[in-house]
Amino acid sequence: MKILLPEHEIKAGVARLASEVKAHYGRRPLTIIGVLTGSIVLVADLIRLLEMPLRVGVVQARSYRGTATLPGDLAVNADLLPPIADREVLLIDDIFDTGQTLQALLAQFRLLSPRSLRSAVLLRKLGRQRVDENPDHVVFEIPNEFVVGYGLDYQDAFRNLPHVASLEAHELAEGLVS
Ligand code: 5GP
Ligand code: MG
Repeated sequence: MKILLPEHEIKAGVARLASEVKAHYGRRPLTIIGVLTGSIVLVADLIRLLEMPLRVGVVQARSYRGTATLPGDLAVNADLLPPIADREVLLIDDIFDTGQTLQALLAQFRLLSPRSLRSAVLLRKLGRQRVDENPDHVVFEIPNEFVVGYGLDYQDAFRNLPHVASLEAHELAEGLVS
């Protein structure tokens, strides 16, 4: 595993994101929705840097993947989603890869008539995008490598790493010994 973003860089990046969010919303009430499960670490760190009246909710989006790295059909579970009608909503995900997950979630959220809707991601992979819509906030651009840590998993492991690391092809091919 190769460290791509050490802990101190992520911390500075999240502080930057918090400043952007504060600059945009000021003291207006905000509803933050984290996409499970990868965004939980970012959401936990970000919300503690914000001071406006804040609601926090989650939505589950799972792409069925034949392997760890290929996007497939998206399943959205909105059972845990709090009301967002007439609220200012910021949707947060771990990584913008093809962009299909975020685009599908934003489309579904728009049907629920939020007052405003924006999006933020920790990472955007360069050269992978397949949709027109971009996140409003991107904390880091990264090369097209499979990454883990700071919420992101490989076969449900590594979410707890305090840094972001990339797995090499042979590590992915070998899988995890659990
Ligand atoms: P997209 O729909 O943008 O192609 O994919 C977004 C989702 O795919 C992310 O929420 C994440 O769950 C997963 N994903 C994409 N690239 C990576 C990666 O490099 N590492 C991990 N752990 N998940 C990824
Ligand atoms: Mg995800």
